[in-house]
Amino acid sequence: MARRRPATTPELRVLNASTERPTDTAAWIPASILQACRDEANAKFPLETGGVFMGYWCPGKGPVVTALIGPGPAAVYERRAFAPDQAWQTARIAEHYQASGHRKTYLGDWHTHPSARHGELSHTDRGVLCCIIDTPAARCPNPLMGIWAGDPEVGWRLHLWLATRRRRRWFRPVLTVTQLAFHIVPDGERNVAIHS
Ligand SMILES: [Zn+2]
Repeated sequence: MARRRPATTPELRVLNASTERPTDTAAWIPASILQACRDEANAKFPLETGGVFMGYWCPGKGPVVTALIGPGPAAVYERRAFAPDQAWQTARIAEHYQASGHRKTYLGDWHTHPSARHGELSHTDRGVLCCIIDTPAARCPNPLMGIWAGDPEVGWRLHLWLATRRRRRWFRPVLTVTQLAFHIVPDGERNVAIHS
């Protein structure tokens, strides 16, 4: 479960957004970023923790994660809830966006479900995804949400979800989430940034 209200600073605008339906896509995530998530999950266990995935959408390929942003110094960790330090994260997102020449931006969030044996999204998680999609300034119509289920003993497994919101005539938009496969990119193949 994660609580987040998308930040609405102008720095979050631009980029992202594959407007085509991204069903056959897979994500690309560097091994060092996956390891940094596991390290953070272990450090905060049994409490939840999380952060932000940044990167870019490669047309016909999928989301490519190139940077990780941690929870931030004022994040709140609980057994079944997590609230990131959004002001801190927003500043890091803006910095990274500027430093990348406006190419790499917010792709979505990730957080842990300690001791969970599955990586299903909670009701709260789905609400957060709706909130991200419905916030125009976030410019993220297809946010990712990564759920790390597990614990330090058995290890952590990432379940990656891709959200979209379908508009149906006469009806409220419906949130659709699709589980997304991901490729592990060996370290050294691309520049990786970890802000924690
Ligand atoms: Zn959750």
